[in-house]
Amino acid sequence: MNLSREEIANLIRDLQGKILITTHKNPDGDAIGSSLGWYNYLKRLGKNVKVIYRDRIPFFFDFLPGVEEIDVTEEITEEFDWVIITDVSEPKRTGFENIPAKRSIVIDHHITAEPFTNYSIVEPEISSTCELSYEIMRLIDPSLIGYPVALPIYTGIVTDTGRFSYNNTSPRTHTVAAELIEKGVDPYLVTKKIYERNRINRFKLLEVVLKTLDFAVENKVAHITLFKRFLEETGAYPEESEGFINYPRSIMGVEVAVFFKEIEQDNWKVSLRSKGKVNVAEVAKKLGGGGHKMAAGFEAKGSLKEIKEKLFQELELALESAEFEKIGN
Ligand code: 5GP
Ligand code: MN
Repeated sequence: MNLSREEIANLIRDLQGKILITTHKNPDGDAIGSSLGWYNYLKRLGKNVKVIYRDRIPFFFDFLPGVEEIDVTEEITEEFDWVIITDVSEPKRTGFENIPAKRSIVIDHHITAEPFTNYSIVEPEISSTCELSYEIMRLIDPSLIGYPVALPIYTGIVTDTGRFSYNNTSPRTHTVAAELIEKGVDPYLVTKKIYERNRINRFKLLEVVLKTLDFAVENKVAHITLFKRFLEETGAYPEESEGFINYPRSIMGVEVAVFFKEIEQDNWKVSLRSKGKVNVAEVAKKLGGGGHKMAAGFEAKGSLKEIKEKLFQELELALESAEFEKIGN
């Protein structure tokens, strides 16, 4: 059942029993920010709450309050009365086969969302799950939004908006950020922790990945590839390729950037970024994934050649129809 902000605020205010918070696999800033923000907030509200992820947390989020209390596990064995799932609306994307909770809530902002829980709120127009979470927290009790809540929420907004640069950044996003800064968040601390702790391995990885740069669909699609062996060769962590897709997207004349990441042999993770003409969420959905109009992704099994053929065919179609029907923003 989809609820309004007020309804979800009332529901969360009255939650009883053991509450689990989780998010999507390979958690990003918005996933970690929203789940930790809720964790710190619900503790202040006097709730019995725990955070569990399927995948480990990239080191650059180590400064967030409460991060050391997050459990990372392949399987959840404990029973919960409630689960709050942030920044994701598909069971598969949580990475867990089974979430042992009696009742469930989704808080998300993906346009392709199809919530599977008892209750949900999905706002595709909002910048981030963190911004949406902040609005709900304000309705419950704004006085509980202290620094340990403000810092992760601000961090998720920064990462999901590309530091307030993408078109999901609204006037309200800036107002929320301003309110969080008033709670004590230091913007440059967040910048330093997230963007200014690069290891040299990241640059070595960037070098080999950029060498794979290639084009398709009359140079309107630019793509790069990370083969698994590159990680071994450079000593980089998979999460250190974060942001690489911005290079192909930044090329003049390119409409869609693609980043192919090899997880295992014949098992690929594909990221898509649009410059506005193509709705990449629709393309990703056709291929089994989802996301936003401008940023989406999917997982694919098979050879890189086959995956490329299928994807470029879809992108060609999408680019053709975009010539006729301009999508908003
Ligand atoms: P990224 O390319 O940074 O991994 O993801 C960009 C956006 O696409 C994110 O909002 C993310 O949630 C969505 N996304 C990425 N991969 C998948 C996927 O496999 N399935 C779905 N449904 N969404 C994805
Ligand atoms: Mn998000």
